[in-house]
This record gives sequence, C-alpha cells and structure tokens, in this order.
Amino acid sequence: MRLRASSLPILRNCPGYASLPDEPEGDGTDYASEGTARHAGIAALLMGEPIPAELTPTQAADAADAVDWLPDDITDVTPLGVEMEHSAEIEGVTLTGHTDAEWQGLVLDHKTGGGQPFNLPPIEDDLQMRAYGWLAGEGGPITVGRYLTDVQRLDVLDLDEDGARENAEILADVVRFVRDHKGEFITGGHCLECYGRTRCDAYQARADLLPVLPRDRALTDSEASRALVALGAAKALVKRVEAELKEHARVTPIARDDGKVWAPSTYNTTRIKDGNAAFLRLYALNPNEALAVAKVAKGDVEAAVRRAGGDPDQVLAEMVDAGEAKTTETTSFRWRKA
Ligand code: SF4
Repeated sequence: MRLRASSLPILRNCPGYASLPDEPEGDGTDYASEGTARHAGIAALLMGEPIPAELTPTQAADAADAVDWLPDDITDVTPLGVEMEHSAEIEGVTLTGHTDAEWQGLVLDHKTGGGQPFNLPPIEDDLQMRAYGWLAGEGGPITVGRYLTDVQRLDVLDLDEDGARENAEILADVVRFVRDHKGEFITGGHCLECYGRTRCDAYQARADLLPVLPRDRALTDSEASRALVALGAAKALVKRVEAELKEHARVTPIARDDGKVWAPSTYNTTRIKDGNAAFLRLYALNPNEALAVAKVAKGDVEAAVRRAGGDPDQVLAEMVDAGEAKTTETTSFRWRKA
C-alpha cells in the first residue's frame, strides 16, 4: 500500500480516500497553475538560478517577493535540493512525499492560495508537514517550515530527538488506522474539505438527506450541519454528472427533439489580471473614456479597448506580453442548432 503525505489529513478522517479512482487529467485550474508557477519561481531563486522564462512578470514578481520575505539565514544558504521526492516504509506502508526545498536540518513547504491561513490547521496538527519532517529527516530531528506565501507567514515545527520520536508515533498511528480500515469511507463534515468529493459515491449518497429536512420550522443545529454536508454532496454529484455529460457530448453531441444539440464550442478570451494596469492603459488611450470602461475592462478587454478608441489587437498583445492579461482557450457547452 502507498500513501501520499499530502493525503494524510483526509485519510485520518476517512481511510476510503486512498481507494478513490484517480482524478481525471486535464482538470487543472488557473489557480493551480498560478500555484505551480510560483513554486517554480521560488525554487529557481532559492537555488540561485534565473526565474523560468515561461513565468509572467506578475508571477515572477510574486515569487521574488516570497523569497525576499524569507529570513536571511534561510536564503543565504543554497538548499540541498528543491522539489525533492521521498519514499519510506512505515507500518508496512510506503509513505511518499514531495518537498519544496530542503537544507541541512530544515525542510520547507510553500503554500500558495487556497484561502490560507484559514483553511490550515496549526502546524503541530498538520499531518502533511509532520510527514515531510519524518521523510526529509529520515525519522531524526529536523525543523519543518510551512511558508504561507500569500500572507507571508512562516509556521515552524521544531522536532528534537523526543519530538521526532513522537512524530514517528503520530504518523504510525494514522498509517495503521488507514491500513486497517482500507476501503472504508467515513462521511462527515470533513468531506467538505476533501478534494475527492466529486469522485466519491459514499459522499454523494448523502445528497439523499436533503429532501427530509423540515420545512415547517427552524432547523436545529444538528439538522443544519447535516444539511450542509448533504448540500455539499449534492453539489459534488451535480459536478460529477455535468463532467460525465460533457465527456459524452465531446464525442456525441446530445440531441433534443427540436433538433438542437448540446455540444462544445471553443473560443479564446483575454482577461485582465491587474485592474489598475488596465485602467492606466485605457487612460493613456482616452482619459474621458477610461473611467467609463474601467469596470467593463476586467471582464472584456477587447470591448473596453475598442470603446476607448484603441486597436484591441495591439493593446491586448502588449498587455499579454507584460503579464497584465492572459489569453485562455475556453470550452463552453450550450444548446445550439445542429
Ligand atoms: S468525500 Fe468524504 S467519504 Fe468521500 S473520500 Fe472524501 S472524506 Fe471520504
């Protein structure tokens, strides 16, 4: 059995998570790729290398800010490595982990986005960080740093000899629990934090609880909390059905009696990432129009630039080059004539 360090916080509540089918590929969000870009930028800077050319100026600046903020006694020393893969046996299970950067006696994990710091437990309760400490320190003393790059906060867990021993016991307990309850799905409030909920039958079955809510009186606290889980389950179910329908429609458009079909269409959109930069560019084109179009510009740069009297192709290309706007290919599904 293999377990990923990053899955331990979910597995502690629900061993079944390890048995979920793999996530379909190609579901990467802008959010995830922003995080990946910042990680790549930070890794390069820590190693004293140039920032990868594919990062936009904004992403590069974010990465530089993140590294600038870190204490000098960390950044003055070149890491032993970045993006390091680990794997070790514990309780007959292979625990794997991917750490962001490591020095002698220190392992650092960078967190980007995701509502930090509110969605994270204190570092002492963060099993992912404990697992990184155990893996990178090979079970011995080590300092674990969790760097919240958005809010520039470094949480630290110092594991001395005793701490490292206790750490190994904590991890062994969780791994034993997961191993002994293999395939057992335990639903509850923790499902709302689970990345697997759109793939999880056990959780989605809880959508059945929605219709039994009383309509003639106020909900009790416990009913409200169960309803919240059921609502999350219903949303996960809808998302999954929608994804399956889209997959089907990509191959075979879904036909309606009136001859219309539900099928994908692909188009490019350019969206502004920085509202101030957009405003200044529009202001340079036409100060009188800039105020009027500034709001529109966030959603539809092309229309805004045209209204301000500029050449959309040229302005958009400049903004994309400067990292102020990003063009993405979007696929939307809609009913249209066959
Ligand atoms: S959604 Fe809930 S039941 Fe399903 S794998 Fe995640 S934590 Fe377990």
